[in-house]
Amino acid sequence: MNPPGTPFECGICGGTAGEFLFPARDINFKTTDESFSVVRCTDCGIAQTVPRPPERTLGRYYPASYYPIGGYDPGYYRRRIQPPQRDKLNIVRRFRSSGTLLDVGCGAGFFLREASKAGFSAQGVEFSREAVEFGTKEEGVHITEGDLLNTHFPDHSFDVVTLWHVLEHIPRPVEALERIRTLLKPGGILIIAVPNFDSLQARVFRGRWYHLEVPRHLYHFTPGGLRKLLDAGGFDVQAEFQRSPEHNWAGILGSLVPLVAANGSFAGGVARRFAGRPLARGAAAIESAFHRGGTFTLISASRQ
Ligand SMILES: [Zn+2]
Repeated sequence: MNPPGTPFECGICGGTAGEFLFPARDINFKTTDESFSVVRCTDCGIAQTVPRPPERTLGRYYPASYYPIGGYDPGYYRRRIQPPQRDKLNIVRRFRSSGTLLDVGCGAGFFLREASKAGFSAQGVEFSREAVEFGTKEEGVHITEGDLLNTHFPDHSFDVVTLWHVLEHIPRPVEALERIRTLLKPGGILIIAVPNFDSLQARVFRGRWYHLEVPRHLYHFTPGGLRKLLDAGGFDVQAEFQRSPEHNWAGILGSLVPLVAANGSFAGGVARRFAGRPLARGAAAIESAFHRGGTFTLISASRQ
C-alpha cells in the first residue's frame, strides 16, 4: 500500500502499485529537509525512492564534498584511495586482463588511473563538471562530461563496462542498460556494484541505513532483483561477489554513528579508529559469510 498522497510509478517496469516500506531523509549530507519514502514495486519487486526527484534537479543533492577531489597528498592517495581501486581492478582482471574499458560515473577517475596503469585502454563518463575537470587535470585520465545516454561512443567498442556504485543513482536504469549493451562488444563484460537492499545492515537500519543514501540513491537493488533486470536486458550473469573492503563495514559504522560519517568530528574520529572500525569490519565479514553483505557486485556478459 502506498502512503497517503504519494503517487507511485515504477522507474523500472512502469507499474503503479507499490508497497510502502519506510520513510527516509538525506541523513548523510543533509542537502534537503524533504522527506521521502522507500516503496517496493509490486510488479517487479525493486524498491525505489519516492518521490523520484526530476532529473534536472538531481545535481542539487550532490554537494561539493560528495567527490573526494582537491588537496590530498601522495600518502593519502596510497593509503585511502588506491587500495579500493586495486580491489575493483582485481575483480575486472578475473574476467578480462586487457582491452577497452568504460567506467560509467567515474568521478575524478581514480579507478581509470589504476586500470590504465594495468594496461587497459580506459576512459570514463561523469556528470559532475568539477570531478571531470579535476580528473582530467590531476589524474591525467580521459573523461567525457555528461550523461551516458547522450554520449557519442561508437557502438560495440568496449570489452568492459563498469558501474561502481552508480546504477542506483541513474534515473532510467533500463535505458542505461540498453545503451551499455550497444556499447559493449558481443560477449563483453558488464560489472555492476551496488548496495545490497537485502543485506542484514539494510534490514536492521532501514531508514537510517548509511547506504540508503536518499535521495541520491533512486533505486535499492537486491541481488535477485538486479539479476532479473540484467537477464531481461540481454545479459547473462556469470558471478557475484559480496566482499567489499571499501563499503561493507563502512555501511554498518556509518549507520551507527551518523555524525562520524557526516562531519568526521574529533571524538567521532577517535571512536571510529579505536573501537568502531574493528567491530564494524567483523560484523561486515559475518554478513558477507551469510550472503547478506552490505554491497554486492554482479559480473555479466552481453548475450551474443
Ligand atoms: Zn516495477
